[in-house]
Amino acid sequence: MAAKLQAVRGMNDLLPGASARWRGAEQRLHGVLARHGYDEIRLPLVEPTALFARTIGEVTDIVEKEMYTFLDRNGDSLTLRPEGTAGVVRAGIEHGLFQGQLLRLWYQGPMFRHERPQRGRYRQFHQVGAECFGSAEPELDAELIAMTAQFWRELGLPGLRLEINSLGSREARAAYRGHLQDYFRGHCAALDADSQRRLETNPLRILDSKNPDLAALIAAAPSLPEHLDAESRAHFERLCALLDGLGVAYSVNPRLVRGLDYYGRTVFEWVTDALGAQGTVCAGGRYDTLVEQLGGRPTPAIGFALGLERLLDLLAVHEVDLSPQPAIWYMVSTPGACRARALQLAAELRAGPGAPVVLMDHASGNFGKQMQRADKAGAAVALILGEDELAAGTVTVRLLRAAQTTQETVPQQAIHATVAHLIAKDSL
Ligand code: ATP
Ligand code: MG
Repeated sequence: MAAKLQAVRGMNDLLPGASARWRGAEQRLHGVLARHGYDEIRLPLVEPTALFARTIGEVTDIVEKEMYTFLDRNGDSLTLRPEGTAGVVRAGIEHGLFQGQLLRLWYQGPMFRHERPQRGRYRQFHQVGAECFGSAEPELDAELIAMTAQFWRELGLPGLRLEINSLGSREARAAYRGHLQDYFRGHCAALDADSQRRLETNPLRILDSKNPDLAALIAAAPSLPEHLDAESRAHFERLCALLDGLGVAYSVNPRLVRGLDYYGRTVFEWVTDALGAQGTVCAGGRYDTLVEQLGGRPTPAIGFALGLERLLDLLAVHEVDLSPQPAIWYMVSTPGACRARALQLAAELRAGPGAPVVLMDHASGNFGKQMQRADKAGAAVALILGEDELAAGTVTVRLLRAAQTTQETVPQQAIHATVAHLIAKDSL
C-alpha cells in the first residue's frame, strides 16, 4: 500500500471556521495599520540565500540551523523566507523606495523555519509585520509601539506585557560584548554547547538563550543598559517619556536582545503568560544601518513582526472570536422548476457588496430536512419556494432566530423589504 500522504511536519492546514477566525483578526490588524498610514507590500516567499545571511546574521539561530535552503534547477541557492524585514529592505532598495521621506509598509504571510514543532512554534508560521523607514527619532518608536498597543485593544486581548530595551550603538555593543565575554569565560563550564560556541562568535546571543539552566547565570551577567552610549541613552529615555505620555505601560528588560543581528537601539517584545513557553506574540526594534548595509542610501528604520499562530491561540484562550458574522439567508425549494427560479432569486439577492450570504439547498425536496440544514448553517432567514409560490410569483419568508415563528408570503420582488419588516417587528 502506498504511504499515506500528509502535510509536512510543523506545517498546518487552516480549516474552515479557523480560517474565518484568522480573517477576522487580520482585518482588525489591517484596520489599525491603515489608520496609521501603513501600506501593504507583497513579496516573494523565496529570496536569494545571501540576503538572509547578510541581514539576519551568520551567527544566529535562524541562519545557522533554521533556514529552508535549496539549490534550484539553475544551481542558485534560494531560501524560503524565515522573516519579512530582509525582503522588505531588499525590495525597497531595488525599487528606489527609500528617498528620504517617511515610508510605512506592512506585510503578511507565511515564514519558514526548521524548528522543533510544538505549541506556538511551527515550521511554516504566519506573521503580520510593519516597517517604517526614514526617521531616527524616538517619536517614531513611540508611535509604532503605541500602534501595537492599539492592536490588543481592538482585538479585545488583555494581559499582554510590553518589554523594552536599548541595544545602543554598534560601538557600545562592541564594548559590552567584551565585558560579556570576560564574564561568561569565567563561567564557561556552566554554559551549554550552543552558548559556548556563541561565547566567541556572538556572546550577546547567550542572553537570548531559552535554556532554563542558564537563567541564573544570565541574570547575573553585566547589564547592557550600563554600557549604553550617551546618544542611545537619551533616545531611550525620551522613548520612555513618550510612552508614559501615551499611556502605554512597559517594563525595561535589560536582558532583551532579540535573535537577529540587524537591531540597534530600541528593541521591544509583547509577551504573555497565557501561552506556555512560547509567550512572545509580537517583537521588533530599530535597525538604522540595515538599508545602508545592503547598498541603499542611509535610512533609519524600525519595525516589528507579530506571530499569527500565537495571536490566534491567545484569542482562543480568552474566548475571543472575531470571525465575520454575515447574515445568512437559506433557499428552500422543490427540485425542478421551483429550484430553477430559486437559483435566479438567489443570484439577484446576493448581487452587490452589502448583500447577505444566500445559500441554496441542492438536496432532496423534503422541506423539513432543508429547514434543518438551514438551521445548521446558522441561517437567520429561510426563503421558501414551493409549487404554490412558483405559480403565484411569491416566496415565503420565515425568520429562523425569532422569538416566535414569523413568516409571510410575499411577492418575490418584496423579499428585502419583508425581511427588514419582519426583523423590525420581532425586535419590538
Ligand atoms: P522566539 O524567541 O519565540 O523563537 P523569535 O525571536 O525567533 O521568537 P522573531 O523572529 O522576532 O521571533 O519573530 C516575531 C514573532 O514571530 C515571534 O514573536 C513569534 O510570535 C512569531 N514566531 C517566530 N518563530 C515562530 C515559529 N517558529 N512558529 C510560530 N511563530 C513564530
Ligand atoms: Mg526563534
